[in-house]
Amino acid sequence: MGDTKKEVKGNITCYEDGRTKITLNTKWCKGCEYCVVFCPKKVLSMERGKAIVVDLSQCTRCMLCELRCPDFAIEVVKLDEAKES
Ligand code: SF4
Ligand code: SF4
Repeated sequence: MGDTKKEVKGNITCYEDGRTKITLNTKWCKGCEYCVVFCPKKVLSMERGKAIVVDLSQCTRCMLCELRCPDFAIEVVKLDEAKES
């Protein structure tokens, strides 16, 4: 899993490796697993009915998980691109 940092603040769980940040809102996540199924790199998994990040280093930032989540519970941020703008 490399040097991914995980931070939990209330309902928000943040995973960050310096390149990519994935934020999951565990309150909004209803556990439909769409994000897990659509992720082509198996970055995501389910734990006790909620989506979690298991291997951020594999994330291609394709945004499919964010786009497919019906509850806006997952957000992907490209940290390296955000710095440039
Ligand atoms: S952005 Fe793409 S590769 Fe990254 S977790 Fe989401 S679906 Fe998977
Ligand atoms: S698609 Fe959204 S609501 Fe469904 S498991 Fe993933 S984060 Fe949760």
